[in-house]
Amino acid sequence: MASKKISKLTQSVHAGSFGDKLFGGATTPIFPSSAYDYEGVETAPYPRYFNTPNQNSVSEKLAALENAEAAMIFSSGMAAIMTSLFAMIKKGDHVIFQNDLYGGTHHAVTKELPRYGIDFTFVDGSIPENFEKAIRKETRVIYIETPSNPTLKITNIKAVADIAKKHGIITIIDNTFASPVNQNPIDLGIDISTHSGTKYIGGHSDICCGAAMASKKLIQQIWDSAIHFGGSLEATTCWLVERSLKTIVLRVRQQNQNALAIAEYLKTDSRIGKIYYPGLKDHPDHAIAKAQMPGGFGGMLSFEVKNDVRKFTSKLELIKRAISLGGVESTLTLPHLTSHKKMTPAERQAIGVTDNLVRFSVGIEDAQDLIDDIRQALD
Ligand SMILES: *Cc1c(COP(=O)(O)O)cnc(C)c1O
Repeated sequence: MASKKISKLTQSVHAGSFGDKLFGGATTPIFPSSAYDYEGVETAPYPRYFNTPNQNSVSEKLAALENAEAAMIFSSGMAAIMTSLFAMIKKGDHVIFQNDLYGGTHHAVTKELPRYGIDFTFVDGSIPENFEKAIRKETRVIYIETPSNPTLKITNIKAVADIAKKHGIITIIDNTFASPVNQNPIDLGIDISTHSGTKYIGGHSDICCGAAMASKKLIQQIWDSAIHFGGSLEATTCWLVERSLKTIVLRVRQQNQNALAIAEYLKTDSRIGKIYYPGLKDHPDHAIAKAQMPGGFGGMLSFEVKNDVRKFTSKLELIKRAISLGGVESTLTLPHLTSHKKMTPAERQAIGVTDNLVRFSVGIEDAQDLIDDIRQALD
């Protein structure tokens, strides 16, 4: 098998997983030890060192799915993102962020970076040249997130990676919305891919975790800081993530199909306003999305309901209101009440987050049942 490129479907089941050597069981056992023999090994396993058997097992699977040399599993998405970022920068450095960021990341960087003397610029990520214009001689990192939350804007990953490479700048992406099934930014020249594993990687709305994937060299650099910051994940949850990942390809493929079917239906219903889904041919960046998301366009879409939107969400029977995303069950939020609550109405308006915008995380249910639920709630 070594010479053949192994498919993601096979990797999702086998990479990193190992059987129970003691009793011949088929699946990876849970190893709860926090104390290991140090004799004859360079670094003994220790939970905060991110090197216990269950941490290694899930990290290996994550690296395989993201086409990365190495990966680390963290206790949350923010732990993965902030540790990766802080491991790359120091006092006096400058970072460029795209302005459409996950609310938690936006809040974290605007609050934390100034306290450490790290300057930053936000740019409109839809035009790659904007990043180049913002580069200074102190710029160390360019940070992007695509598709974006909640209006599913697309940043041209390869164009941004090429600009950064030309200037010797590290690139970090938040790849949460796409999942490793649909988009592998490292193939396009990105240095570090991060995920909130709480979403598609866990996939069942019951795990909080995060991941960073990169070259061995950069993962070593992240590790050097991570062991100081903590933020590692304990054995049982690692094992649950490894188990969840065995079905990630099946789950995400179904979510891709469902989201496209629902977006197509929404286009035909006159009670719906704007629809945001990169899989629709009339999405402004459909061509770029198609090129950089070979696995599919993802399970996230947003749309405007022309009538009373709170009434609409209260009439849904199958689709649940819930703030997170990426689970097997379909959930939705109204971003103006949740993720974008802290912005002023004018700020929200400027980025398309109107009071009647619904952000929909499509699950793995039958697409027609979901469409029927939306239709009856609109009725
Ligand atoms: C949820 C989320 C995060 C943060 O992840 P946590 O697991 O909650 O720490 C970061 N980025 C995106 C795009 C997210 O959806």
